[in-house]
Amino acid sequence: MLLNTHVTTIKGVGEETAKLLARLKIKTIEELLFSVPRRYDDYSQIMSLATVRPGRISIKVNVESVKGRYVRRGLHITEAVLKDESGKLKAVWFNQPYRKEALSGKATYFMSGEYAYQNRQYVLSNPSVEKVSDFPKNAARIVPVYRETKGLKSHQIRKIIATVLESTSIRETLPKSIAHTIKLMPLEKALKEIHFPSSQALKEDAERRLAFEEVFELQLANQLNRQAIDEELSAAIAFDEKLAQSFVRSLPFSLTAAQKRAAWDVLQDMSKKRPMNRLVEGDVGSGKTVVAAFAALMAVRQGFQVAVMAPTEILARQHLESMRELLGKGVNIELLVSGVASAEKSKIKEQFEDGNTEVLVGTHALLQDDLGAQKLGLIVIDEQHRFGVKQRQALQQKAGVMPHVLSMTATPIPRTLALTLYGELDVSVIDELPPGRKPVKTKVFAPTARQQLYRAIDKHIEAGRQMFVICPLVSESDKLGVKSVESEYELLRQSVFKHRRIGLLHGKLRPDEKKATMQSFARGDLNVLVSTTVIEVGVNVPNASIILIEGAERFGLAQLHQLRGRVGRSSHQAYCFLIPSTHAQVSRRLRELEQNNDGFSLAEVDLELRGPGQIYGTMQHGALDLRVATLTDAKLIVLANKAAKRFLESGEDLLQYKRLHERVKKLRAVTNLN
Ligand code: ADP
Ligand code: MG
Repeated sequence: MLLNTHVTTIKGVGEETAKLLARLKIKTIEELLFSVPRRYDDYSQIMSLATVRPGRISIKVNVESVKGRYVRRGLHITEAVLKDESGKLKAVWFNQPYRKEALSGKATYFMSGEYAYQNRQYVLSNPSVEKVSDFPKNAARIVPVYRETKGLKSHQIRKIIATVLESTSIRETLPKSIAHTIKLMPLEKALKEIHFPSSQALKEDAERRLAFEEVFELQLANQLNRQAIDEELSAAIAFDEKLAQSFVRSLPFSLTAAQKRAAWDVLQDMSKKRPMNRLVEGDVGSGKTVVAAFAALMAVRQGFQVAVMAPTEILARQHLESMRELLGKGVNIELLVSGVASAEKSKIKEQFEDGNTEVLVGTHALLQDDLGAQKLGLIVIDEQHRFGVKQRQALQQKAGVMPHVLSMTATPIPRTLALTLYGELDVSVIDELPPGRKPVKTKVFAPTARQQLYRAIDKHIEAGRQMFVICPLVSESDKLGVKSVESEYELLRQSVFKHRRIGLLHGKLRPDEKKATMQSFARGDLNVLVSTTVIEVGVNVPNASIILIEGAERFGLAQLHQLRGRVGRSSHQAYCFLIPSTHAQVSRRLRELEQNNDGFSLAEVDLELRGPGQIYGTMQHGALDLRVATLTDAKLIVLANKAAKRFLESGEDLLQYKRLHERVKKLRAVTNLN
């Protein structure tokens, strides 16, 4: 049987079962074999009847007697007396009249189930039964429990999988050299052990084997993507020491040690012909912008142009301002966003294409699609970690050189995860905030405490501070969360804060409306800004010292931390108030934020509590399709990373490993954002 054939080729699987399997996203034999159990029930310890205790038990018995009867309409009971050398025990099955016939023979059986006190006696109720002479699947072993669907339960799935495992020989998919050096069990054995473990230890070995393979594939994809970039040539932008010194002197503050390290990494990368592909990770407010400006200046002074891409228009505007401030009047910086009229837009583009504009700031979408440049030397991307080979090549064709790429993110990704997801990127971490920042005081409030909280907040507003109020999306269909912000806005405007000036911001507003609202908040004309997470990244209004987050339980820890980073940007003590939708949702997750101010450690906690799928799933288009690997096993990830390097260096041809090749191809496409 071939792995990629349809499940109906399995003996005993007809169209009906195939339909049920399809509901579980299982269409091929491969998908079936790689649907690993959700959990296991351990029935592997066989007890003698003299020693059984109430609870889950497994026994090896003969049937002394068996009888069946209807106790009333619709309720049939089969009762059996079971025995082994040590004693006897009673078992009952409800509404399984066929049991009587089935248990009438002389065979020895394994039975597993719950032994409990029922109707004034101890009985084993509804145990699963298998002949000792068969390969047991449901009893007397570590029993796999699968994701089920109506009409297709675990015991049926077990049977189908066992049929495949018995009748199929499964070819090894990992290169021999890899499996051998790392001492991994063969795939065939791993699949057998993951479904029908012969011991806890072998099950764990099997998990390790399958997880390794997944991470190995991902590492290969990353490294091949990286190789493809490395094959291109960039312009070497030499490190100009004098320029660096005068830039640093011109700043109104001194750089933190972490900023210096990151800037050094970046400037070193740019001085080479190998295209830079670096991610600078740094908590909100850690000062990434100045690092980007440093790099931009180096490029511009050597005659190169720079594109700065931001996820939203608001942020693009802020980058424009920061860049103008940091680089000074001598550098020609322009903004290109969709809000600009189209005649104006073409003029801005023309200016860039002619080389008159040295730094062009805009949104991801605008700059990616149709950017022509004379001499694009550097692309700075805020909050989008990847920039694919194809995207670079498109820009290269216009510019003649492959631009260096500097990505920046305030989403703190734990090291292990960064290595797996973004293995093709070099990473610098800014793990230090500028001195003198007071940590934001964070407190979780039950919804019932809202009025009291509002009164306290109003005192701060009276004293001149400003507040963000953040509302979550109401539902998936209401993608921009317009409903909840609008009603919150009305509520605050008409009751508690009716004497204050309140603004409303969400994704459905026209760009000029957004801009006007942002500006009046930044000017201090508005006391309160009710917003969706539009403002999540990068917005800088130092006088805003309070952020109140409604429906807080709907956000991830990392995201809440991001939002919290909107305040605490001045010498005023800042506050973050978290209000979950209901009292019951004041959870450990939210409490964690009260104690913890470090984005990286929060990301680790988030990873532990929610798993990578939840957090990074959408970010990765959910297409990575990891079934076994948890991505938190640092050792395994490092092992796989090294193995992938070794494999590529060995010069072995990936094409000869068909499945591996196909998986890697798919992953490359996903991770390269083509
Ligand atoms: P982020 O990393 O979130 O993008 P920014 O680059 O916007 O952070 O910097 C946040 C604020 O900190 C800005 O107002 C910036 O001028 C200021 N800043 C950056 N670096 C330093 C520093 N070394 N010392 C003092 N203030 C700094
Ligand atoms: Mg920023």
